[in-house]
Amino acid sequence: MAIKDYEFWFIVGTQHLYGEEIFADINSHAQDMCDEWSKKLPCKVVAKPCVKTSSEILNVIEQANNTPNCAGIITWMHTFSPSKMWISGLNALNKPYLHVNTQYNRDIPWDSIDMDFMNLNQSAHGDREHGYIHARMRKKVKVIAGYWKDEQFQNKMGIWMRAAIGASESRKLRVLRISDNMRNVAVTDGDKIEAQIKLGWQVDHYGVGDIIKYVNAVTDDEIDAQMQVYKNNYEFDTDNIDSVRYQAREEVAIKKFLDENGFGAFHTNFEDLQELRQLPGLAAQDLMRQGYGFGAEGDWKVAAMVRLMKIMTEGKKDAKGTSMLEDYTYNFVKGKEGILEAHMLEICPSIADGPISIKCQPLSMGDREDPARLVFTSKEGKGIATSLIDLGNRFRLIINDVDCKKVEKPMPKLPVATNFWTPQPDLYTGAEAWILAGGAHHTAFTYDLTAEQMGDWAAMMGIEAVYIDKDTKIRDLKRDLMLGEVFYR
Ligand code: MN
Repeated sequence: MAIKDYEFWFIVGTQHLYGEEIFADINSHAQDMCDEWSKKLPCKVVAKPCVKTSSEILNVIEQANNTPNCAGIITWMHTFSPSKMWISGLNALNKPYLHVNTQYNRDIPWDSIDMDFMNLNQSAHGDREHGYIHARMRKKVKVIAGYWKDEQFQNKMGIWMRAAIGASESRKLRVLRISDNMRNVAVTDGDKIEAQIKLGWQVDHYGVGDIIKYVNAVTDDEIDAQMQVYKNNYEFDTDNIDSVRYQAREEVAIKKFLDENGFGAFHTNFEDLQELRQLPGLAAQDLMRQGYGFGAEGDWKVAAMVRLMKIMTEGKKDAKGTSMLEDYTYNFVKGKEGILEAHMLEICPSIADGPISIKCQPLSMGDREDPARLVFTSKEGKGIATSLIDLGNRFRLIINDVDCKKVEKPMPKLPVATNFWTPQPDLYTGAEAWILAGGAHHTAFTYDLTAEQMGDWAAMMGIEAVYIDKDTKIRDLKRDLMLGEVFYR
């Protein structure tokens, strides 16, 4: 399902105390707001008739629960709506929940204001009654206060919506494991059953032989068609066309396997290629460009996160890209500190800046033919690097704000795609915090989501989020980690 196919339901609370005649006004206000939001936000917002009783609230929330393309509810108390009425509905709610504290009119009408106006427009206190009940019930809720037409308010709503869609898509995600994790590596492994319980991911293993059957079945015509896609998107900087054609063969095969089985993400493992002639490099990169998630060396968590983050950014204006990356090597020159990000092959070309060339070089690890791969450098600007780790009793999502920069010089001898960034608050604190929190060397990276957004997603999934940003101090971070240890027991 694409982002535009999702909708959110706007459920406006009131009560019978003020007389029936106000309901038409409330519903018309709600409709105006939904019309405006549907124009400005990533998804449609649907106004439901205002709710006045416990049974109406339960009824609309049960409908929301059972409507697959409803990605969450948005509540607002136009008037005072006694919150005991909301208990049964909120108990039943199993979708993301946003409470907007706003009001229809921006200005207080100083000259004409009377008690009728006060009674009809009292979200300032109605929304406080509503806040109490979600606090009392420990509901996972996002609260946004402000005027509904303000850009800042709408931006916040849009941010939450994309996180809610990530939550919805998370519960449907299937991840294909081609082979297992790289032998002896700890951080890329984890509890797949817990991932399914908590995050909804169905993580399934297939043997490399299952993929090889598909690889062998690819026809020359299919390879020709795939080569045309490469020619349209990339510059050829290799004479080894046979190698590129083999990547095309692998891509066609893996894509078919993913689509036939409903997988949105996959990983490979260079240690276990069996009769595959090359590690999928260009193939994995071009699949990521199309929106599939990918993780290397058996990293199913990164594969899943890259997929979700790609969905969450779908259709975003001026999107700059999302990819798996790996922290490789440091630059410790004062004032130019940063981490060179790369992988042995598999970085998504969506993050590229400038030309993207296909090169064919030996792989320093593994024992196969020289694989074709895309080589490029990445865009400047703000991004987030995330790592989902399994702590045994819980998942922790670590989110680091990073500043991506141009590399000082070309790197003619480095035949892989790269990014270069300085983690916030600075390389030293950022790296210390990341390592203390247990963050992996692999990350799911994007320019197009914010730390808050990934934190909203983590909250919706009920997992711990740890932020590393401009405000991070090691002492505070350690306390946050200790608090998480208690809270997520
Ligand atoms: Mn790796």
